[in-house]
Amino acid sequence: MYQKIKSFLYLPVILFLFWGCTTAPEKDPHVRNVILLIGDGMGLTQMYAGYTANKGSLALERSQYVGLATTFSANRYNTDSAAGGTAIACGVKTNNGMLGVTPDTIPVKSMLEYAADFGLSTGMVVTCELTHATPAAFVSHVGKRTENEKIALQLSHSKINVAIGGGRKYFEERTDAKNLTDSMRAKGFHVAYSMDEVKAVQEGNLLGLLADVAQERYPARGEMLPESVAKAINILNKNKKGFFLMVEGSFIDSGGHANDHEFVANEMLDFDRAVKAALDFAELDGHTLVIVTADHETGGMTINSGDLETGSMATSFSTKGHTGVPVPVYAFGPGAETFTGIFDNTDFLPKVLKLYGINP
Ligand SMILES: [Zn+2]
Repeated sequence: MYQKIKSFLYLPVILFLFWGCTTAPEKDPHVRNVILLIGDGMGLTQMYAGYTANKGSLALERSQYVGLATTFSANRYNTDSAAGGTAIACGVKTNNGMLGVTPDTIPVKSMLEYAADFGLSTGMVVTCELTHATPAAFVSHVGKRTENEKIALQLSHSKINVAIGGGRKYFEERTDAKNLTDSMRAKGFHVAYSMDEVKAVQEGNLLGLLADVAQERYPARGEMLPESVAKAINILNKNKKGFFLMVEGSFIDSGGHANDHEFVANEMLDFDRAVKAALDFAELDGHTLVIVTADHETGGMTINSGDLETGSMATSFSTKGHTGVPVPVYAFGPGAETFTGIFDNTDFLPKVLKLYGINP
């Protein structure tokens, strides 16, 4: 499908060439936009639990290239989401619990910060609180992942254009009595407290605070994740230089911790609908790279048997925590072939910067 659309788009270029133009058609369309989707705790089994529950289909199947990423942190075989997020966002191994810094607490620039400094629009959409480990790794630099108020303050000072998730209390009910929502409004942000308010924003900067802390799990949360991804893309794409968007399906991990395969499958399918929103845009755009991966696997999940006609499955789990196994990487669009083979989670940053044409 992607190939078909690409050749269709080239047709006018080829015709133009026949009329004597000397400009060669673009052989490798350059990467203008990157959408990085992280399924927290999404190992291969979690992905296949979604596939099974959905009776044998996922939007993820549209990926053109697949790889594997190792996940260990600087001090643990089993990473947590802070060190895992930091490795993906900043390209360095740090200790579990640390965000956007090396093990000796030296701040390291994130993929989102590089993109913003390069003149691109940037955004994040998550189901957890915006100050939680994975999103925090992209906009903050702190020694401890529990420093929610400090992370919110750093987010409010960052160059981010669109941030949608939970964690309202860390912006508005702070021990230092600052109201970060007010200060972001003063900087020109639209502030939305519901999906209706999110959907009403057409352009500019958007802070969506949809819950005091984390949002509810699917289906109580509704279509917040895929709808917010579509909205974020719509707003960020107004910057013709390009954009960077990070999306997290935050609670696939919670289903793994709870050893609850229905919880895992529901969250996996919600995340897959967000992947679909990204792929639908990328397919039409032609200059958008979509990368889907995880920070680690959670639960040591096994599917012992299943039925693709009824969507039922029997599962077992080996732990209530994280495991150290590599996670799958799925890629689509220009540069997707870069994400094949077995590589380390610190390799995402240099690969993405190179494709954008950003010199670190
Ligand atoms: Zn976890």
